[in-house]
Amino acid sequence: MEDRTKHKVEQLLKSARLRRTKARSDILGALLEAHQPLTREQISERIGACAPNKVTIYRAMETFVAADIVHKAFVQDRTWYFELSHHCTTDQCHPHFSCTSCGRTDCLHELSIPMTADSGGYIIQHQRVQLEGLCPKCSKSA
Ligand SMILES: [Zn+2]
Ligand SMILES: [Zn+2]
Ligand SMILES: [Zn+2]
Repeated sequence: MEDRTKHKVEQLLKSARLRRTKARSDILGALLEAHQPLTREQISERIGACAPNKVTIYRAMETFVAADIVHKAFVQDRTWYFELSHHCTTDQCHPHFSCTSCGRTDCLHELSIPMTADSGGYIIQHQRVQLEGLCPKCSKSA
């Protein structure tokens, strides 16, 4: 893990008033360095041989979500992808773009979609936008 990442991990844990453990640090480090949402499995893969076990990752993610420093970005093939909350507001995440050709998903931080107005008795608490199409790489070769 880079020094810059280590420093950010410490800040995140501090802001959430969470005790620093190796597992928690490794997981947040993986999310910080990925720059895209990851599944629990992908987090484990990124950490590598010394990755915490499944239960530890599961518990750490629950803690992070409860503390609001990590959130569920989107679901794909019934698997949740998680990301750090620092690019998102509480009621709206940035849109996520999934490429139908290569399968990669990108965070579109610079794009914001107007909040849907509450209507007909539905109270909208969170808007999640998932877009599909061809990423820049695939659209060039299409
Ligand atoms: Zn988000
Ligand atoms: Zn693509
Ligand atoms: Zn994102």
